[in-house]
Amino acid sequence: MAREVDVRRRVQMRQMSPDVAVTTFDEHVATYTPEEAMAEAGRALEAGFDLEAAKGGCPFRVDIPAYVRKVADGDFDGALAIIKQSHPFPSVFGRMCHWFCERATPALVDIGERDPDWKPPEWKLAAHPDAILHRKSPQTRGESVQQMGDGRYAGGASGNVFERPNLLMLERFVGDYGDPSRTPFVQEKPLSGAHIAVIGAGSGGLAAAWMLRRLGHEVDIYDALDVPGGMLWQGYPPFRMAKFGVRRDNDPTAWGARYVGGRYLSKEELARIIDEHDYTFLAVGASHGRRLYLPAEDAEGVWLGLDFITQVSIGHPPQVGKHCIVLGAGSTAHDAARTARRLGCAVQIFYRRSVEQMPVGERDPWMYVRNMEREGIEYRFLANPVRILTDEGNRVTGVEFVRMELGELDESGRSSVYSIPDSSFVVACDLVVEAVGEELDLSILPDGIQHDGAEVFVDRADHRTTHPKVFAGGDLIGDKGNDGAALAGIQAAHSIDSLVRGEPVKRFDSRPLR
Ligand code: SF4
Repeated sequence: MAREVDVRRRVQMRQMSPDVAVTTFDEHVATYTPEEAMAEAGRALEAGFDLEAAKGGCPFRVDIPAYVRKVADGDFDGALAIIKQSHPFPSVFGRMCHWFCERATPALVDIGERDPDWKPPEWKLAAHPDAILHRKSPQTRGESVQQMGDGRYAGGASGNVFERPNLLMLERFVGDYGDPSRTPFVQEKPLSGAHIAVIGAGSGGLAAAWMLRRLGHEVDIYDALDVPGGMLWQGYPPFRMAKFGVRRDNDPTAWGARYVGGRYLSKEELARIIDEHDYTFLAVGASHGRRLYLPAEDAEGVWLGLDFITQVSIGHPPQVGKHCIVLGAGSTAHDAARTARRLGCAVQIFYRRSVEQMPVGERDPWMYVRNMEREGIEYRFLANPVRILTDEGNRVTGVEFVRMELGELDESGRSSVYSIPDSSFVVACDLVVEAVGEELDLSILPDGIQHDGAEVFVDRADHRTTHPKVFAGGDLIGDKGNDGAALAGIQAAHSIDSLVRGEPVKRFDSRPLR
């Protein structure tokens, strides 16, 4: 029976209540059913949303009008084939992309009628794309390609009652339901005879490998993990990124690439690989948890956030006690906190700054906090850890903190933060998770690749490093997120292709997406 749809409202996502969500590692939001997806796609078309504008906002230029039409018609394999002309990750991006398309979709005031006050997202052009723009140059530092749109959804300041189409859920649906065996990999160009190495099998490396294969090059992918997917596989808990989605989208052998996984490369091995291949794309992720170097940090019951999450991701959840303290307030800290809740712990997140300075929830940090609190996670702001407390058996028993206060703004525009004298206090616990960021291991890079200890220098217009045969993207050059890394990989693949074929090197406006 046909579903009745209010053309102004998104088809509701089915989600677990928070008290149920914390009892499982399954995703708390379900993928649309075919009926729901067809209804939402049909609503987008019937309401008259400008899906060409949405396509213009997508960094990958997914043909949104065409695939939404396919979904509305019930041709999910056809929709999958359309999305896979632009990128190989519909299940992943349907969960993790940063809404570029939705934000670029003009608001409506009536069916087919644009809100006259709506403005498209602003695109800041900082420098001419033909300029040699090394990552650290002042022209590019801190610039973001796409700024937030006006963000007016139903119930927003404008009172606009037409909710924009749920394009992420539609893409997720297509990725989860479309049959990959009916959308075979398409090689666009004849074989070139070139051999390209890709180091790292996260979104950046795999996107590069996918595009390089489409462009007719042989590709060897090297990664420390046995399975491709990088941080999607290892660093995202399954309630945030379903592992079947990672497997579906990250299948480089289906594209004809060779996957060599299961061990870290030494500096000598990497140098040899670079030597043996025509070109190399470096897409090593920041996968080493940063330590706080607190006294007694080696105690039993103290984990680094990424290691803690990885244990769950690979199906070996760690033994935990009753009370977990998470140190840090970034995305890994929150993933670790939610993981510990699902393992049965009472969880408190301690952060040395205030809620507004949290490195997550940039749209609305308070809403982010409220969502976490619904899962039973507590926050303690303006508290800095000074040491881990242990028993005679070197088992963690608590953490000593000192209270902090905010000061004037520093050079980066953030408030400076000071400890308050004689303000220390102790919180008992039996599990501590340190999650204050991740770092890159740049020690394996051959000498010809220059960096500043944190990021590799590249020409952002074509992703070439200071080594003539080596390109780089993703965490290595300071790009954030799977979407940013994948875009860098695809752009670098085009630049490598033009070099291989003796054409003028393709250059892109490739400033960070966010
Ligand atoms: S979800 Fe991301 S990749 Fe997909 S259409 Fe939107 S912006 Fe493009």
